[in-house]
Amino acid sequence: MATPTKETSLETTNSMLATTLALFDSTFERLQLDEGIASIMRQTEVEMTVTIPIIADDGRILTFKGYRVQHSSARGPSKGGIRYHPDVDIDEVRALAMLMTLKCAAVNIPFGGAKGGICVNPAELSMHELERLTRRFAKMIAPILGGKRDIPAPDMNTNEQTMAWFMDEISSIQGYYSPEITTGKPVILGGSEGRTEATGRGVAIATVELLRKLGREPQGARVAVQGYGNVGYYAANILADEYGCKVIAVSDVSDALYNPKGLDLAAINQHVAHSPGRLLKGFTGNAEHITNAELLTLDTDVLIPAAIENQITGKNAGQIRAQIIVEGANGPTTYEADLILRDRGIHVVPDILANAGGVIVSYFEWVQDLQFYFWDIDEVRRQLYKKMSRSFEEAWAMAQERKVDLRSAVYMLAVQRVADAIQKRGYVSSGR
Ligand code: NAD
Repeated sequence: MATPTKETSLETTNSMLATTLALFDSTFERLQLDEGIASIMRQTEVEMTVTIPIIADDGRILTFKGYRVQHSSARGPSKGGIRYHPDVDIDEVRALAMLMTLKCAAVNIPFGGAKGGICVNPAELSMHELERLTRRFAKMIAPILGGKRDIPAPDMNTNEQTMAWFMDEISSIQGYYSPEITTGKPVILGGSEGRTEATGRGVAIATVELLRKLGREPQGARVAVQGYGNVGYYAANILADEYGCKVIAVSDVSDALYNPKGLDLAAINQHVAHSPGRLLKGFTGNAEHITNAELLTLDTDVLIPAAIENQITGKNAGQIRAQIIVEGANGPTTYEADLILRDRGIHVVPDILANAGGVIVSYFEWVQDLQFYFWDIDEVRRQLYKKMSRSFEEAWAMAQERKVDLRSAVYMLAVQRVADAIQKRGYVSSGR
């Protein structure tokens, strides 16, 4: 039997959706946006809910709920990941699609926002079952996808293999090889060089840009990183190796390591590469073992939360000693904490700008796929630097001009870009 779906209206109390709508509303107010345009942006453009049947390895029929939501196509094809998780529901997908619209607009890439997901625990399925689930889902939502319409990418519990199956399925429906239909694919199937490191590299660039705006060079700046996964690992190593920062703390779900004189990242990387689950646990090198909570309040210049959401809260925001927070993770700071940090004059580069390096390189992947011409890693890094640093500069200028914090500035920039596109396209003009 199919899992029941939690269908609700956009005005629900679901926390992520409610928080996202509250952020939209405060930005609309600041920008004194036309009410009609605001009402378009408060809603999603297209929503598709499907029940996906598959044959399990033991011959049973299993069914799963799947969703694809396109929030906006005002600035270009909608873009966003597909996640496989038991908590996936329509409201979460709606909120994530809205945030994708803002993220793409914040870094001025020609995409709108979308998101998708299947309510499933992938750990309970075999590889063959996962492939059947992915292919069936791709086939069912194919009518609303397309390289110039809506382009999926990996997200929680999906990866380049998932995207390869997706691309293959849609290509077979279309009758020709269409790598531009998804991003985050293996390089051999039109994926981009540099995608794996892109989000961490973008976080590093945002950190350095902000340090420089505050009048200090990155050399020797102390950095603490929560979460030593994909984003945190690359952010820490790039800041240390390429910018001379002193990484004094890193953590993951298993441990937190601290050395005020600077950690030996080469030794830590060696340990992680050989540890089961790629964890910090069991590292015996020169570092003090602290807790994740202690890491967040260390005496450091820069704090990079790059693990999960809701880590900086009303409870610990008053104790944060970093002057700069760069949000590698999505939503690591609660609304309440944000107000406290703002009052305390702590500079925060918000997630939709700080971790946009991934979607920027996804955009580069799409551009390469459309041209069937592929860039080398140096070109990808050069273009990423250009996009990230320009986006940071625009956000900083907006913050100075409107005398607001960086988060408000980035939201204002992004919402204004989407609103301008809606207006200029004339969705709401008379006579249509
Ligand atoms: P990941 O799974 O590779 O790494 C997550 C890390 O956080 C791991 O080291 C894990 O052990 C650690 N962690 C998990 N729970 C923790 C806890 N309670 N306390 C401390 N550490 C904990 O994931 P990732 O791809 O690096 O993503 C990290 C964050 O960045 C997520 O919020 C994700 O949505 C966001 N993000 C990732 C990308 C990307 O391209 N990977 C892009 C944009 C945003």
